[in-house]
Amino acid sequence: MAWSACAACSVGDDAPRVFRAQKFGARMPVPSEPGLVYIVAAGPGGPRAAVLQAVDEQGAMLASDANSGPLGLPKLAVPPGTRFVMLKAPSGQPAPAGVLDVYANDSRDDDGDGVGHALERALGTCDAPDEPHCVRSALAKYYERVPGATRDTDRDGLSDADELWGVAGQPLLDLPRFGADPRHKDVFVEVDRGKNVDPPGLSEDDLVQVAKLFAHGSAAALRNPDGKPGIRMHFDIGFEPAEPAHRALLGDWGGSSRSSRNYKKARRQDFTAARAGYFRYAVLIRSGFGQSSGDAFVANRDYHRIALFAHELAHTLGLKHHGHASWGEVNCKPNHFSIINYAYQNLLEVGFSTRAGQLLDPGSVIERGPVDGTEASLLRAPPFELDVVDTGEHPGIDWNRDGRISDEPVRAGLTWATYKSCDAAGFGRATLAKKVLPASPALVAVGGNLQAFWIDRDGQLAHRTVRLPTCDARDPKRCTRLGKARTFDGHRGLRAIAAVASDPGQPQIALAHVATDGRLGVSAVTFKRGRASASQPVEIRGAHTEHAPAAAWMTVDPARYGASRVLSVLFVAAEPRGTLLQASALTAAGPFVVRPVLDDALRPITTPLAPTIATLGTGELCGAFADQESLIRFYCYDPRRDLWRDHSAQAFYAGLGPRTFGPLGLAYHRYRAADGTAIDGDEMRGALYLSFTEAAPVKDDTPDNPQLMISEWLDAKNPAASSINFRWRGSVINQWTHLAPNTSLVLYEDSSLKAMSGAMVRRAKDGLQLELLPIVDGSFTAGLGGGDDFEVMERGVCAQLRGADVCGGPETGQH
Ligand SMILES: [Zn+2]
Repeated sequence: MAWSACAACSVGDDAPRVFRAQKFGARMPVPSEPGLVYIVAAGPGGPRAAVLQAVDEQGAMLASDANSGPLGLPKLAVPPGTRFVMLKAPSGQPAPAGVLDVYANDSRDDDGDGVGHALERALGTCDAPDEPHCVRSALAKYYERVPGATRDTDRDGLSDADELWGVAGQPLLDLPRFGADPRHKDVFVEVDRGKNVDPPGLSEDDLVQVAKLFAHGSAAALRNPDGKPGIRMHFDIGFEPAEPAHRALLGDWGGSSRSSRNYKKARRQDFTAARAGYFRYAVLIRSGFGQSSGDAFVANRDYHRIALFAHELAHTLGLKHHGHASWGEVNCKPNHFSIINYAYQNLLEVGFSTRAGQLLDPGSVIERGPVDGTEASLLRAPPFELDVVDTGEHPGIDWNRDGRISDEPVRAGLTWATYKSCDAAGFGRATLAKKVLPASPALVAVGGNLQAFWIDRDGQLAHRTVRLPTCDARDPKRCTRLGKARTFDGHRGLRAIAAVASDPGQPQIALAHVATDGRLGVSAVTFKRGRASASQPVEIRGAHTEHAPAAAWMTVDPARYGASRVLSVLFVAAEPRGTLLQASALTAAGPFVVRPVLDDALRPITTPLAPTIATLGTGELCGAFADQESLIRFYCYDPRRDLWRDHSAQAFYAGLGPRTFGPLGLAYHRYRAADGTAIDGDEMRGALYLSFTEAAPVKDDTPDNPQLMISEWLDAKNPAASSINFRWRGSVINQWTHLAPNTSLVLYEDSSLKAMSGAMVRRAKDGLQLELLPIVDGSFTAGLGGGDDFEVMERGVCAQLRGADVCGGPETGQH
């Protein structure tokens, strides 16, 4: 057959309106309706030239056109008396191979998109919201509420006429030849290459795989009027496909070129202005990861290039790391199975999420319950590295990493993932003070409230009380309530501090401070009606240090110390340089006795960085001290022999901890039930959190990215001295977080707090600022879940290209 009415014609009423010409030279009968204009378009691989003739009953030619159409193919208003139209090869040329589509466009056009009323009916596109097939459409709300919406029946940002016939005067917008369909969501992407990326940058097979990820969306989620699944991708990549079936997927469409590696600049300079609003814009690079903004993105082609490219492309379709806001606006949700989620970002087999998982709340997690095999293997692998039981009678997930599948709801930092930048530790962060000195702050709780100490820009000791109500994801700003910042008289000229609470029940804090000249002193801070005041500092005679001290109450051998408990301040001596010394006294009022800190072999421990110590739930006192090469070592104090045993070989995978580029932080985290109390009432069980500083691989002057190591479970039977194992490691907040040089992330938790808090000094625009991280362990309250990513992208395909005015607001979406 030479002519056939195309598949879409079945929607039409009386006369066929769309024809597919398989063969040149055959006559096609036309309806007798006046005013019809015939428009010829070529699909992928179709002929580039043809002549359309109008012929009367006797076979005489009444009119003819070769290239009046938008893209240089025929467009012909047929004169009265026309009975047939006929396609011919241009004169003197052989008939080209391939198929041409001929559209009979009528003059009534209710939505003004250039496609006639009867033709739209025949195609199954919409000419007005009230047409029967449009009222029934899943996009009815969009047609109805957005003026002119039916011009873009499939809501992909491309008008029906543009998808059928291309855009006049723009040879780069031959949309039908690139595979556009007015009844199906199409996405066009120009792919450019940064300076050091050789063409093609991505292969045909790479793009097939990218397209496959977007093909999984259901027709329902995507509201494709043709009822077919998937978002169809079309890439201008600068080469023609080897496989003819891929001609709608990719090609050399005239835009792909070398560009700046700065994608925002490239978007302005190397992207044809006429393509804006039709194409998205991508730049391939060979370093870094990926980023996106509006309709443009950049992706490293040497790093998980298919998943990364698809991830960034999805951002330009309106998909965010958390999916939809109603699923919980948090990245790294373990139950949002999508490559848009940092936790599953590089896993092609995960693809985009098409279903809602079970809802999870980090403030109250049920650990016991059936786990499906796929989920189990994903959660066991990095970045979560969780223990999962998916067989037997008692399956479950050890969400809080405490070595047990609990029966009561527990608090657990669900979105904290090893190595990844998941922001879990930074949830609800608040600025405590601006313009501070580069000195690690100090945190202590008294009566359930956090007391934060720091040194202001004048070298004066400053303080603020912080209340910590429930940290709710719906209002992260209210995780903390800040008291007034106050300074202390008589505490000036300082450069470092450390603090420790006195015995429980006594609202008192021992505060060790280092003066700018290196002298070390101790004050007692007391609270009256919530207001803090500090005693006159007591100087530790002969003590000089350049570093921040560490302070703790030590349980000691009375035969050696004259008491079973002493206040100790550990500091790195200026002379002999690097020797770790301990100043001990019965109270903050002194007098202090200074002695060296000894290791198992009774040698003085030396360290080039500030030490950190913490009392564990097990009652042990342990510390992290860097060795001379700045590798972290882990010690616990042995009261009987008054020395510190080095447990590094057991504590760290490699026998020594990672190298640190700044001071260390250490705190003991108790595993907590949903109500904040210890699980099973066991106050001893918990884990150690160790913070240190990694030199980030960036060439700037703030290379200090804070990191966390988290240990496996410790308790009375498994004390640190025999069981310490720092098993998990990850960034604090994210990999772009930097500490002020020579400061540490300070960690603090005690039984009066529901979660671990932290504080850090970082660079801000107007100087250094002190920030509080109320929930370093990530156990804020939230309803976290997943859903169908394609329901989000449905509107985003259009909205990221042309905005909500044209595409409709969220009220026209699924949610
Ligand atoms: Zn992203």
